[in-house]
Amino acid sequence: MTEVIGGPLDALAARHGVTELNVTEARSLSEPSYPRVKRFVRVVLPPGQTYRTADHLAVLPANDPALVERAAKLLDADLDTVLNIASTRPRPDGFVLDLLPPIRPRTYSVSSSQSTASGHVDLIVSLLEAPARSGRGTHPGTGSRHLNTVRVGDVVLARRQPCREAFRITHDDRTPVIVIAAGTGLAPFRGAIADRLGLAESGARLAPALCYFGCDAPDADYLLAEEAGAKSSRPASIGRMSWGTAASSEP
Ligand SMILES: Cc1cc2nc3c(=O)[nH]c(=O)nc-3n(C[C@H](O)[C@H](O)[C@H](O)COP(=O)(O)OP(=O)(O)OC[C@H]3O[C@@H](n4cnc5c(N)ncnc54)[C@H](O)[C@@H]3O)c2cc1C
Repeated sequence: MTEVIGGPLDALAARHGVTELNVTEARSLSEPSYPRVKRFVRVVLPPGQTYRTADHLAVLPANDPALVERAAKLLDADLDTVLNIASTRPRPDGFVLDLLPPIRPRTYSVSSSQSTASGHVDLIVSLLEAPARSGRGTHPGTGSRHLNTVRVGDVVLARRQPCREAFRITHDDRTPVIVIAAGTGLAPFRGAIADRLGLAESGARLAPALCYFGCDAPDADYLLAEEAGAKSSRPASIGRMSWGTAASSEP
């Protein structure tokens, strides 16, 4: 018999080793009228915890509260009930449980740099929306919807996840770098750009670096507009990296 006690996510949080991280910044990176929503989220790491540029953050999402209420109503369940699930005898609602896999963490690239922002982690998140399997409306992705609704002062349940060493970018005077990224694929490179800028400003000699960035339209979803210093721009360089922009809406 399994007894689920505490808050709805407590048992899962313990299983996945995630802890509460405070959200200190959350804002849209795309224009309000642009349908493919992109968002910036900053969370603070607990004292003593840090990360390395290009690591990942595993985020345990919470379900849409409206969906939870609907499911509870359908199952005639009280949301404050402690649930005992016996695996030894058949349950009339067992088929429902089969259809509902436990929620699992989603992986997001850390988009900040350990050298310039070791105490917090930035994320760049794209809201995933797919036609719902029910045939009615759309299915907003569980993890991306969660991160697209968090506000300053909320907490997210997450843990740092090291990336493979092959994904780390070497910044020295012998290793030229070429980065190709579309949309939120740019997320991990934002940290590398900040690392590079910090090194260059402290006098380090660096081999040339080039980034090709793909977006839909520079005035709608130019994710590093802030770093580039202006919206709608096609910067020649960002953070001591030469820059090329490819916009799918333009010839
Ligand atoms: C190493 C790594 C780094 C990543 N970094 C980033 C990042 O920096 N930024 C970022 O935005 N993403 C990133 N991702 C992707 C991210 O982990 C998630 O996969 C993404 O946010 C979608 O997850 P979700 O929970 O929103 O979608 P889910 O809810 O898991 O949905 C995923 C898919 O399941 C299907 N689906 C599920 N249920 C239904 C339903 N009822 N009806 C219809 N379709 C359904 C949909 O087709 C959908 O495409 C990264 C992934 C990896 C592996």
